[in-house]
Amino acid sequence: MLNVDLHSHSTISDGVLSPTALVARAKANGVHVMALTDHDEVQGVAEAREAADVYGVKFISGVEISTTWAGSTVHIVGLGIDENNQELIAGLEETRSGRVERAHEMSRLLENVGISGAYEGAMKMVSNPFLVTRKHFARHLVGAGICQDIKDAFRRYLVEGKPGYMPHRWASLEDAVKWIRNAGGIAGIAHPGRYRFSDLVFGAFFEEFKYLGGTMIEVVTGSHTVDQYQKYARIARDFGFQASMGSDFHSPEESRVDIGTLPPLPEGLIPVWNNWL
Ligand code: AMP
Ligand code: MN
Ligand code: MN
Ligand code: MN
Repeated sequence: MLNVDLHSHSTISDGVLSPTALVARAKANGVHVMALTDHDEVQGVAEAREAADVYGVKFISGVEISTTWAGSTVHIVGLGIDENNQELIAGLEETRSGRVERAHEMSRLLENVGISGAYEGAMKMVSNPFLVTRKHFARHLVGAGICQDIKDAFRRYLVEGKPGYMPHRWASLEDAVKWIRNAGGIAGIAHPGRYRFSDLVFGAFFEEFKYLGGTMIEVVTGSHTVDQYQKYARIARDFGFQASMGSDFHSPEESRVDIGTLPPLPEGLIPVWNNWL
């Protein structure tokens, strides 16, 4: 059985392992095919590919683009992209550009509820200062003893409706799909089970994504329940999407699902990795 993991993060975004250490961990866990999908940045792809060559792991280049669709944040995964494509690089740079200012705003919001110095604290957690995410704030809140763990930090301070949440306008869905396709990649919907859409809104979203040229959906991910594997397998079949799977691994300490430890895709799907094997 082929062990495939097409969604993971390194220190280039908010993972805690370098691209090389991530590939080494994937190899140790028996992964045969992997993709690095850092948030809004492809800087780690070259290093990960080199490491994958050394370890004998089949490597697929990737990225996870933050988009705003109908007022909500949706993550779009691009696989098999040319990481040197100029349009993609410029688009990602544009997408990242608001992060530092947003981090300052989040810090001000946390100040209002008596938590000072959150910006400086979060910046101590980043390896790439231009890719400061809510995860880095969560790590700071845990490190400072304000929250018990990452989940607690998100639940109490960092999700919509909580005091540290700062709405942000990311790339459009249309642009993200276009950048990925023009860079030779396949665009897919990351962890659909995480979005709080009604069935009606989900239907509109899938239609629009498909119309824009999106062709893939993550079915088995570290964010999904076993019931959701079946639910999104059905969506993949109904909409004719190729299916992907990936742990969304960030850290040995934090991630519920380790890289390379997910169950296989349900039957009757078109695995996206067939494009590269
Ligand atoms: P950002 O792009 O700055 O909004 O941060 C997104 C990061 O926060 C991603 O790594 C997500 O996986 C992580 N994240 C979002 N919501 C949660 C949550 N409820 N619990 C843990 N991590 C989360
Ligand atoms: Mn992340
Ligand atoms: Mn995501
Ligand atoms: Mn991710």
